[in-house]
Amino acid sequence: MREDYQRIHARVSLDAILENMESMKANIAPGTGIMAVIKTDGYGHGAVPIARALEPLDYCQGFAVATAEEAFILRRAGIRKPVLVLGFTFPYSYRRMIREEIRMTVFLPETLSELSGAVRELGAQGAGKKARIHIKVDTGMNRIGIRPDAEGLSFVKEALDTDGIQVEGIFTHFARADETDKTAVRHQLDSFRNFTDLIEKETGYKIPIRHCSNSAGIVELPEANMDMVRAGITLYGLWPSGEVKRDIIALHPALSLHSRIVYIKEIGVGDEVSYGGIFRASSKMRVATIPAGYGDGYPRGLSGRGDVLIRGKRAAILGRICMDQFMVDVTQIPEAAMGDEVTLIGRDGEEEITMEQLGELSGRFNYELACNLGKRVPRVYIKGGGVLCTRDWYEDF
Ligand SMILES: *Cc1c(COP(=O)(O)O)cnc(C)c1O
Repeated sequence: MREDYQRIHARVSLDAILENMESMKANIAPGTGIMAVIKTDGYGHGAVPIARALEPLDYCQGFAVATAEEAFILRRAGIRKPVLVLGFTFPYSYRRMIREEIRMTVFLPETLSELSGAVRELGAQGAGKKARIHIKVDTGMNRIGIRPDAEGLSFVKEALDTDGIQVEGIFTHFARADETDKTAVRHQLDSFRNFTDLIEKETGYKIPIRHCSNSAGIVELPEANMDMVRAGITLYGLWPSGEVKRDIIALHPALSLHSRIVYIKEIGVGDEVSYGGIFRASSKMRVATIPAGYGDGYPRGLSGRGDVLIRGKRAAILGRICMDQFMVDVTQIPEAAMGDEVTLIGRDGEEEITMEQLGELSGRFNYELACNLGKRVPRVYIKGGGVLCTRDWYEDF
């Protein structure tokens, strides 16, 4: 490992991500494609190396991101497969989106006319491209989207009739697919299916790509596969919630987080550790200092709770997590020494600390924890068992 990555680094196994794709593929209908959701820089794992690893898979139908800028990064990195921006796109990026064939989520009538205008202007400049859109239908999330009603239907008709616009897809998003009780999600699914059937009946046109499933849907709702599914959290080997059944598909966590011991000392009875003295020793102890903290995205909520792994054993966090350092108890690990690797997330021997456990302990949750892993954490990508490449925010400056 590079010496300058000793303080902290995340290992991201592209092998695990590819295995997770295969697990999902094996659980969906043969004709259903998978769109890999790599918003927020691939849930903190790194969107570009992941997109490059997945693009060659024939059933990988493309990539979904949250913003225009995230889509531009993928194109700049040479990704050619379809990219869909799931959220609202602000008009300043329409022209670039059209030129780069980035699919946009649309649900407002004014967007149709603005996009059509942008296509016309670009056409006059010789770029004869249409704006490809996916219509968002709100079936219960109440976030963005047209309603599946008469007004919604006339919006779809208008989209189909607008010059320069190609309606490539239509989709909805589940609010409660990760719960054991599937009543609400079935209601959303029925409402979406009835609406797309109505569109087909009323317009005689079948919108090519209908999609609704997120990760929880991929695992537990085979009836919601349709033309494509959107795989987010499961791609990274993480679970949508504690309620999703774990025996349907196998997932492998892709990311682990590592640091090193930089200092070890003994403290005596009554000595306090870290800010605020929330930990006070009641006996003689051996304490190790780890040079990582909430500045790296390691949650301050783990203060006084949670463990790290050293030499395959658990060491409890003592006192508050600081911005750049924290302390752990190595009294029961006498072999622990300066320079030892410390696993903050991941496996060491028989022990494992999962993103889910840390999410729970810190009062956050696994999605948020992964997304918030900081810029100061270099990412090291593993493929075929070896290091494929690294990504390092410092080197961009
Ligand atoms: C984030 C997101 C997803 C992926 O959700 P997961 O639970 O991570 O699978 C799918 N669709 C939309 C619209 C999203 O915003």
